[in-house]
Amino acid sequence: MTKVGVLGLQGAVREHVQSIEASGAEALIIKRKEQLDEIDGLVLPGGESTTMRRLIDKYDFFDALINFGKSGKPIFGTCAGLILLAKEIVGQDHAHLQLMDMKVERNAFGRQKDSFEAALNIKGIGADFDAVFIRAPYVVEVGDDVEVLASYKGNIVAARQGHYLCSAFHPELTDDLRMVHYFVEMVEQSIKQLASS
Ligand code: GLN
Repeated sequence: MTKVGVLGLQGAVREHVQSIEASGAEALIIKRKEQLDEIDGLVLPGGESTTMRRLIDKYDFFDALINFGKSGKPIFGTCAGLILLAKEIVGQDHAHLQLMDMKVERNAFGRQKDSFEAALNIKGIGADFDAVFIRAPYVVEVGDDVEVLASYKGNIVAARQGHYLCSAFHPELTDDLRMVHYFVEMVEQSIKQLASS
């Protein structure tokens, strides 16, 4: 069975586990870097990106996560996870894993809209996707290899670059499993590709 890990240092971990299982894959909570060898794809959940980065360093995950991505195994970053994947962060000198060629802005929707829902059209996934945003970032710039999958009021809120996928919202918080399912399919395809290469 396809094994998808959820980085379990902080944030919305259990909800992702449930939605991965409901999408037909096995879910593992990843708390030690050695566990990365056991999985075919990884979710970086929402939470708080600076706290998550502190824990990534504390538990010596930083290089292991980068190597996981560079090995061709898919990574899906949601909300704080999207921030971790970005090459650049507005107003910060240092970004984190820098695996996706994009620039992001944290808490970008402003205070009056700390938390809201919107129906999105997501390329390759479908229409009327019920997206939950919580102190969400958005993407302000993408490189040539990054495909924009969804925008909200002109701001990029979902994107894909090869085997990397990200969303500014929380696809694990509703019953709409289409985006998690899309990621599980990316992982299934990558298993085949990596086996034949
Ligand atoms: N605002 C958070 C951050 O900057 C992200 C919010 C979320 O993951 N729901 O890390």
